[in-house]
Amino acid sequence: MASEPDAATVDRSWDVVVVGAGPAGAAAALSAARVVGPSRVLLLDRHTFPRDKVCGDGIAAEALTELAGLGVDLDELTAGYPPITRLRLTGPAGGIADRDLPDAVRVIPREVFDARLVDAVRGRGIEVRQVHVRGLRASDGGWTLDLRSPRIHHAASDRGRQIRARVVIGADGAHSVVRRHLLGDHPVRTALAIRGYPAARPGQDLTQLITMTGEHWPAYAWSFPLGDGRANIGYGELLGESPVTKADLMARLDRLLPGAAADPTVLWRAHPLPLSPARPTVSDGTVLLVGDALSLVNPLSGEGIYYAVRSGALAGAASTAADPGRVYRRILRRDLGPHLRATAAVTALLRGPRLLDVGVRAAARRQRVFDDLVRMALADGGITPRLLRGLASSVLDDRASRSAAGHTP
Ligand SMILES: Cc1cc2nc3c(=O)[nH]c(=O)nc-3n(C[C@H](O)[C@H](O)[C@H](O)COP(=O)(O)OP(=O)(O)OC[C@H]3O[C@@H](n4cnc5c(N)ncnc54)[C@H](O)[C@@H]3O)c2cc1C
Repeated sequence: MASEPDAATVDRSWDVVVVGAGPAGAAAALSAARVVGPSRVLLLDRHTFPRDKVCGDGIAAEALTELAGLGVDLDELTAGYPPITRLRLTGPAGGIADRDLPDAVRVIPREVFDARLVDAVRGRGIEVRQVHVRGLRASDGGWTLDLRSPRIHHAASDRGRQIRARVVIGADGAHSVVRRHLLGDHPVRTALAIRGYPAARPGQDLTQLITMTGEHWPAYAWSFPLGDGRANIGYGELLGESPVTKADLMARLDRLLPGAAADPTVLWRAHPLPLSPARPTVSDGTVLLVGDALSLVNPLSGEGIYYAVRSGALAGAASTAADPGRVYRRILRRDLGPHLRATAAVTALLRGPRLLDVGVRAAARRQRVFDDLVRMALADGGITPRLLRGLASSVLDDRASRSAAGHTP
């Protein structure tokens, strides 16, 4: 059992300590600062910024709106990265929906985006520190965080340093230490994806490309243009029983986007995506999980930044409650519950790629069906009547054309 900290090793006590300074942590810190004051909030990350984070870098309009609501200057946040107004979706059977997006998205390398967010947090007067959190334990009605300093030359003197907090917000991503403290090894449903920054696809311009495949289903490759001639290109699939290597992911990417992986100077990195249908229940109490730490990645698209920012904002706002966990669970359920249930239901229906082809064809035919699908994949959209009507008529057409071609249904 760990001994009680002595005064020399204990930092001052904070109202809210946020572990992890990605989009979820930055949003949580900004939101908490509004209710407890900036000087009572501490944001921690094991890295200094800028730092890379393996991601598709696609930032939904709704994520930006949420950040603007937290006082982030969107001109500063998005400077140098043009609005991306079009999406070309290729279904597993080759059907294409190529349409204007309902709202423009941005593609901003996370190395840039996250550093700008951390600057915005600092600009609000919130302290940001580079420390690696090893664990936490209950003490004096709050929490004591055990830290490991990443500054090697100070490691001996910093060993055993601790920080105290009334509320801890775990925004520490897919391998969250805070979640492990709360839930042990909670099972996660995970996809794995690989990403690099080669030249954009020929003729791609400012269009996002997504190409799905029935092989290793569910899986897709993407090419998201940065606007400077390069694109964030990658491939991801749901992890099943059999192991998947980096070479497998690269080969599958190259099959879907031929030549994308040809440039030997491009660095390719992989990272897991914890999908929302397997998210844990939010616990009562004073330790809250947000973003990837709460497994909030959309299972239809692999997008997680909007959910990271939204959950961070809600957790920060709940941090002054007598039982922040209970309040956070209630507002999260009210806010994202219908969407999370809808995406879980659609994911369960999409056992095979055929229904997705039907969806792509329906989206190709009607802009509003396309818009509803995009909102469900990127933000908090649900299953709308016009989406159901569009899918139903596409299913009927599919049946008709299959029986005309002599297939049994
Ligand atoms: C290949 C790939 C492509 C993706 N593409 C997209 C996309 O295009 N659009 C989209 O919206 N989403 C995408 N996602 C999902 C998105 O990247 C995540 O959902 C998002 O980063 C979650 O944000 P977060 O703040 O919860 O976690 P993170 O961004 O992972 O941030 C966690 C932070 O915690 C810090 N940390 C971790 N452990 C500790 C510790 N012990 N102590 C201190 N600090 C710690 C880390 O250094 C990190 O800065 C993609 C994911 C992958 C893997």
